[in-house]
Amino acid sequence: MVRKITLLIALSILILTQVHAGWGGGNGRGWRGGQEQVVDSLTSEEAQHLLLLREEEKVARDVYDLLYQQWGLFIFSNIASAEQRHMDSVLAQLQRYGLVDPALQPGVFGNQELQALYDSLILQGTSSEMDALLTGALIEEVDMQDLHEMLEATENSGLTRLYQKLLCGSRNHLRAFVRQIESRGMVYQAQVMDQAAVDQIVDSPMERGCGRRYR
Ligand code: ZN
Ligand code: ZN
Repeated sequence: MVRKITLLIALSILILTQVHAGWGGGNGRGWRGGQEQVVDSLTSEEAQHLLLLREEEKVARDVYDLLYQQWGLFIFSNIASAEQRHMDSVLAQLQRYGLVDPALQPGVFGNQELQALYDSLILQGTSSEMDALLTGALIEEVDMQDLHEMLEATENSGLTRLYQKLLCGSRNHLRAFVRQIESRGMVYQAQVMDQAAVDQIVDSPMERGCGRRYR
C-alpha cells in the first residue's frame, strides 16, 4: 500500500509541475540494515515487490531510450543500458522463485499505475532538454524511495543484495543527472526525497562496482 502512495505522489508532482515552478518537498526515509537470513521462498509482499520492481526498472529504461532518441544526450543511452542490467538482475530473481515475468514491449506496462507514470514522464521529458534531465533525476529519486521501502520489507539476503545494488546504481544515476542539470546553470531541488538525502548523495563521489559489491 505504501508503494502505491509513492507512485501517486510522483504522479501528482509530475502533474503539478509540468511547468516546474515548485519542485521540492519530500518524505524520504533512511534505510535500516535488515538481518541477513537465507530463505527459499518469498512472502507474497516480496513477490509483489519483485514483480513491481521489474516493471519499475523498465519504466526507467524505456523513458531513457526514448529521451535519448529525442535529445541525443549520451547520458540517456548510457543509463538506459544500466537499467537493462537492473531489469536483468530482477528477472534472475523472478526466475529463481518461479514468478512469471510481467515485462511487455517498450512503452507498455501491465501495471496501470506504472503505465500512467510512464506516460507523464514522457510528456515531461520531451518538452525540453532540461525537463528531460529533471525527469531522469525524478525517476532515480522515485526508484530509490521505492527500493528503500522494499528493503525494509524483507529479510531475504538475495533480495537485500539486489536492492542494495540497484540503490547504488540509482545514486550514481542521480549524481550524473544532477551534474548535467547544474552544468546548465540550475540548482537541483529534490523532487520526492528529502533535500538533505539528495544533497548527501550528490555531494559524494560516484561509487564504483555497484554490481560486484552487492553480489
Ligand atoms: Zn535502475
Ligand atoms: Zn537508474
